[in-house]
Amino acid sequence: MNEIVSLKNIVVDFDGEPVLTGLSLDIHDKEFVTFLGPSGCGKTTTLRVIGGFVQPKSGNVFFNGQDITHLPPYKRQVNTVFQKYALFPHLNVFENVAFGLRLQKKLDEKEIRLRVQEMLEVVGLKGYERRDTSNLSGGQQQRVAIARGLINHPKVLLLDEPLGALDLKLRKEMQLELKRLQQAMDITFIYVTHDQEEALTMSDTVVVMHDGDIQQIGSPIDIYNEPINAFVASFIGESNIIDGIMLRDFMVEFAGNEFTCVDKGFGHNELVQVVVRPEDIQVVPAIQGQLTGVVKEVIFKGVHYEMHVEQAGYEWIIHSTQGSEPGELIGMCIGPDEIHIMQRAEA
Ligand code: ATP
Repeated sequence: MNEIVSLKNIVVDFDGEPVLTGLSLDIHDKEFVTFLGPSGCGKTTTLRVIGGFVQPKSGNVFFNGQDITHLPPYKRQVNTVFQKYALFPHLNVFENVAFGLRLQKKLDEKEIRLRVQEMLEVVGLKGYERRDTSNLSGGQQQRVAIARGLINHPKVLLLDEPLGALDLKLRKEMQLELKRLQQAMDITFIYVTHDQEEALTMSDTVVVMHDGDIQQIGSPIDIYNEPINAFVASFIGESNIIDGIMLRDFMVEFAGNEFTCVDKGFGHNELVQVVVRPEDIQVVPAIQGQLTGVVKEVIFKGVHYEMHVEQAGYEWIIHSTQGSEPGELIGMCIGPDEIHIMQRAEA
């Protein structure tokens, strides 16, 4: 796969405060890439560096191998869709979408009409050409914004929390729609969100950010199953994170017991952290458990019960389709594949 966008050692300061601290990243052509991280970690700034709206203090931006660090936004083959749709209120749907084409002054009216109609069909707004944008629902307005972003066939579409203002149900529908759209258009989408589920649902690649730099890059499955550190593990869904000792390859000690795992290559008796997802702990009768603990709290969550279980001073979170009773002594089993080992964070 070839790289369409590369960032090399990007540093951005705002008012002397570091916002990006030497960020490097390669984005492959036709990928759906998501920048994921907590508020203020620098996701939007990274997107704006790619779009050309923020000049890095140092570092370079490459597009198809060419240095575009100093190229103004309108000369870059990228378009942006913002959270607030930024539609022109005085123009109808057709004219909002046609805007980018008219600016180019390359196409005649008939071609413009054809292209806009095609694009409106792609985003599911055929027949809406003459509608006033202010009368559209949030989801429809965002579709207009996306059509406007795609109309002049950019190589890369930047999307800055485009679904942030929509309600949960519509948001979920639009997530799937955006993924389909990206595949249908066969271009690169670079998406910003602080919503883990959204990132895992849509992306080919997730870039987890924290404090102005990248923590981990990987497929959603890798990021979920093999978080590189405690920050990623806890940011990507609920986790049990517990200190352990890697006794040797495939054998780790934690919570006062030894467990077989699938990890190797750590030092002999290296101090590590162990991640176990709540849904990966099997609840068994106490006598059969690798660990035993006392149920402190049981919360019904619809699809599963969430249980808080105390074991040797640590409170485990377990998701199970069967709820135990508070006060009950239960056994817990954790299979080798469910144990994820990380290097221990430096104190
Ligand atoms: P959010 O999810 O809240 O949008 P983010 O991860 O996208 O967060 P950025 O918008 O990139 O974060 O902001 C990173 C930091 O840079 C924040 O502390 C923010 O206040 C600061 N910042 C962003 N833009 C500017 C600006 N134009 N001037 C000054 N500070 C800025």
